[in-house]
Amino acid sequence: MKIDIEKLKKIVGKENVSDDIADLYVYASDASVHHAMPTAIVRPQTIEQVQKIMRYANSSKTPIIARGAGSGTSGHTVPIDGGIILDMKKMNRILDIRPEDMLVKVEPGVVDDDLNRALKPMGLFYPPAPASSRIATIGGEIAANASGVRSVKYGATRDYVYGMKVVLANGDLVNLGSNTRVHSSGYQLERLIVGSEGTLGIVVEATMGIRPIPKFRCLAVANFDKLEDAGNAISDIISSGCEPSMLELMDKIGIVAVNKAMNLGLKEVGAIILFEADGNVKEAVDFEIEKMKKICKKYNGKDIKKSYDLAERTKLFSGRKKLFASLSRYKEGIICTDLADDMGVPNSKIAEAAEKIHEIAERNNVIMAVYGHCGSGVIHTKIMLDSKKKSQWEDAEKVIDELYDYIHSVGGVTSAEHGIGLSKAPPWKKARSDIIPVMRKVKRALDPNNILNPHKIMDAPDNWVQATNLRYKVG
Ligand SMILES: Cc1cc2nc3c(=O)[nH]c(=O)nc-3n(C[C@H](O)[C@H](O)[C@H](O)COP(=O)(O)OP(=O)(O)OC[C@H]3O[C@@H](n4cnc5c(N)ncnc54)[C@H](O)[C@@H]3O)c2cc1C
Repeated sequence: MKIDIEKLKKIVGKENVSDDIADLYVYASDASVHHAMPTAIVRPQTIEQVQKIMRYANSSKTPIIARGAGSGTSGHTVPIDGGIILDMKKMNRILDIRPEDMLVKVEPGVVDDDLNRALKPMGLFYPPAPASSRIATIGGEIAANASGVRSVKYGATRDYVYGMKVVLANGDLVNLGSNTRVHSSGYQLERLIVGSEGTLGIVVEATMGIRPIPKFRCLAVANFDKLEDAGNAISDIISSGCEPSMLELMDKIGIVAVNKAMNLGLKEVGAIILFEADGNVKEAVDFEIEKMKKICKKYNGKDIKKSYDLAERTKLFSGRKKLFASLSRYKEGIICTDLADDMGVPNSKIAEAAEKIHEIAERNNVIMAVYGHCGSGVIHTKIMLDSKKKSQWEDAEKVIDELYDYIHSVGGVTSAEHGIGLSKAPPWKKARSDIIPVMRKVKRALDPNNILNPHKIMDAPDNWVQATNLRYKVG
C-alpha cells in the first residue's frame, strides 16, 4: 500500500511518523495470536492533527487503525490490509478533574492507572479498572467497553461515559453526550462509540464519571475442593442480594500457574474465590463480608481469610492480578492464547459453564484455565497449546466451535469485556446474524469509504487463520 509519508510528516512532525521495519513489526500484533504489518505509524498530539490525518486517509482510502496500548486480546489493532496505525499514546493529558461535578476530562491516551494515581490524593477513583490497567488507555477502554474486578458493583466503562469528542472518518469533529450524569437530549451517540473498536470514529477527548474512594475495603479469600462448589457459591452470593465490590474466581490451573510464576505457595485446591466489600461504614462492610462467608461455607468453602489492611489485601490479590501473565508458565512447551477468552454467562450458569469449559478442553487435548470476574458473569479462559503443532490449532478450533455453541445456548455472550476484533468474530457472527445488517448500515453511514479499522467485528473474515499470519511459527 502506498502512503504519502511526507504529507503525514508535515501534519505531525517527522519524529511522529515511522515506516521503519522494526517499528512496523512491533505494531503488527497486539495481545492476540494475530500478526499483520502496517504501512506507517503516526503519533498525533492534537485534535487538529487527528482531523488532518483522517482527511488524508479518507481521500486516499487508506485504512486507519487507532491504537492505545495494544493490549486488546482479539486482534482489534492488527491491520489486515496494512494502513496507518494511529498511536494515541501521545495524547495523554488529564485535562480537568472536577470533584464538584464528579467528572474528569481526559485525552484518550491517558493510562488507566495514571488517571487513578492523579485522582487518589483527592479521595477519588475511576472504577472500571481492567486487570491491564497498568497499560490500557482510556480510549482503548471506551472502544472495548472494558470492565474489571470491581465492575460487579461499579459497572463497566459504558457506565462512566458522560461525553466525548470524536473525529469522524471525514475529519469532522463532533461533541457527543454531555457533562451531566444523565441526558435525554437526542440519540445517545456517545454510547454508540462505546464498544465500537475503532470502527466508527476516533475518540480524541472523553468526559468520564468518577467516584469517592470508600473508607473501608475488606478482601476475603476462600478455598474450595471442587470448582463446581465455588461456581455455585458465586451464583448464590449474587442472587442472595449481597453487594460484593469484587467477586473473582481462580481454578486449579490458575492457582498452579501463579504458584509456579510467582512462588506464592497457595494451596492447590479445586478453586479459590476472592470476595471484597467496601463502604463508608465498617459495620456494613463487615455485615456484607460475613454474609458472603456464610454462603461460601454452605458450599464447603474453607481456609477463609479476610483483611482490611492494604498491604495484606494486595498480597492476597497478587495471584489473581497476575494470573493471565502467569498462565504461560503452567506447563513447559505450551503457550497461552487469547482464543475464547472472556465469555459472559447468566449468573445461574457459572458452575455449569466452568465445568463444561474444562470438559471440552480435556476432550480436545488443550488446557483451559477458568477464572475471572465471575460475580459479573465474566468467565475468562485461555486456550493453552503447543503452538508448534498444527494439530493443536485444529484442536483449538474445535474447542471454539463447541464452547461458543454451548455459551450461546445458555443465553451467554461471546465477549463480556474484551470485544470481538478478529479472533472472536466467527462464533459471534454465527450467533448474531440478526444485528449484522444493522451494524453494517451504521458503519456505512459514518464511514462510507470503510477506512476505520476495516475487517473487524461484523466485517472480520470467518477464517482468520487465512486472513492474518499467526504470531507463532507452526510446524
Ligand atoms: C494482561 C491483560 C489483562 C487484561 N484484563 C482485562 C480486564 O480485566 N478487563 C478488560 O475489559 N480487558 C482486559 N484486557 C484487554 C484490554 O486490556 C482491554 O480491552 C483494554 O481496554 C484495551 O486498551 P488499549 O489501550 O490497550 O487498547 P488497544 O488494544 O490499543 O485497542 C483496543 C480497541 O480500541 C480501539 N481504540 C483505541 N484507542 C482508540 C481511540 N482513541 N478512539 C477509537 N478507538 C480506539 C482500537 O482500534 C481497538 O479496536 C486485558 C489484556 C491483557 C493483556
